[in-house]
Amino acid sequence: MPSLRVPNDVVADSADLANKHTLRCPRRGCDSLILRPGTARLVNLDGATSADLTEIPAHLLQEPQTESRDDSYRDGYWKVDNMMDFENVGFLKTLEGSGIKYLSCADCDLAPLGFHDTRDQGPSRGFFMAVQRVRYT
Ligand SMILES: [Zn+2]
Repeated sequence: MPSLRVPNDVVADSADLANKHTLRCPRRGCDSLILRPGTARLVNLDGATSADLTEIPAHLLQEPQTESRDDSYRDGYWKVDNMMDFENVGFLKTLEGSGIKYLSCADCDLAPLGFHDTRDQGPSRGFFMAVQRVRYT
């Protein structure tokens, strides 16, 4: 997956792990506002709990792929409990087999930026934006 440049200081506070920066669509020329600072929480998901996100073609992305890929946030997601916390977000059709809905950019439809598991009714239920798939401003 093409990695975007992720700032070292993604969280405002190491206790609550809220996002320090504004999260935006990574597509070149789009920049749609997805989440305001302090609205999401950083979580790490292992392969069993995260959905497979297909690759986004690198040429669509605003920032060039770097030579040495930083995998620090490979399993990192911004978790939002309530859909209303998003400024803008789109959803693809729910996948019948898994109940997964992929999150997209509401303005340009770039996807997948993250996912929501419609079958998860437990405490981990939420909306997940991949740390390496959004742009930080
Ligand atoms: Zn967009």
